[in-house]
Amino acid sequence: MRGGPVIAVDGPAAAGKGTLARKLAEALGLPYLDTGLLYRAVGRLALDEGQDPAQPAQQFAERLTPADMQRTDLRTPEVAQAASKVAAQPAVRAALVETQRRFAAERGAVLDGRDIGTAIFPDADVKLFITASPATRTRRRFLQNGGNPDAPDAQARLREMEEALCARDKADASRDSAPMCIADDAYVIETDTLDAQAVLAEALRFTRE
Ligand code: C5P
Repeated sequence: MRGGPVIAVDGPAAAGKGTLARKLAEALGLPYLDTGLLYRAVGRLALDEGQDPAQPAQQFAERLTPADMQRTDLRTPEVAQAASKVAAQPAVRAALVETQRRFAAERGAVLDGRDIGTAIFPDADVKLFITASPATRTRRRFLQNGGNPDAPDAQARLREMEEALCARDKADASRDSAPMCIADDAYVIETDTLDAQAVLAEALRFTRE
C-alpha cells in the first residue's frame, strides 16, 4: 500500500518534463524526484574515475549517495551522454529501481524520467508522456543554457545541440533494457505550442479525470 498517488512523467530530453513535474508536485503537495539525476550521477562518478561510461558501471549505481545527486556539475552535455550510456546497462537500472520505488512509498510522488510509467511504476495512478519536436526542444535547451539566438554561431550551435539530443533520444528509445516508450495508458502532451502554464493545466486536467 502506498501512502499517496504516483504520477509518472516520461518523455524525451528537454521536452519540459522537469518543469511540469516540479509544478505538478507543488500543486498536488507530493514529493518530486528527477530520476535523470540518478543516471547523471552514476555517469559522473564513472567519468570521475576515468572510466568509459559504456563500461560496466553497476558499482557506481550501488554506492550512489544523496550528495552525489546534489552535485552542481551534472547538467553538462558530457554528463548527459555518460548518463545515457550507463542507463543502457541492465545492472545499473536494476540497482536504481528500489531507490525510485522507495521514494514514493510513504506519501506517493511525482517522478520524471523515461521508464517511470512502463518499468518503475507500471501501476502508476496517472501516466503522462511529454514531448515536442526536436527543433522546439533544442531551442528551449539552448535558451535555458543562456544561449543568444542572435549570436553569429547560434545556428551552428543549435544544429550541433539538436544532433546530440536526437542521438541521445535514439539511444534511450532503442536500448534493450527499459527503453523509453509511451505506456499504453499514458496521456500524451505535445508541448510545441504550449507554455509551461498551459502544460500544467493540461496535466492537472488528466490527473483529475
Ligand atoms: O532526464 P535527463 O536528461 O536528466 O536524463 C539523462 C539520461 O538518463 C537520459 O538520456 C536517459 O538515458 C537516462 N534516464 C533513464 N531513465 C530515466 C531517467 C533518465 O534511462 N528514468
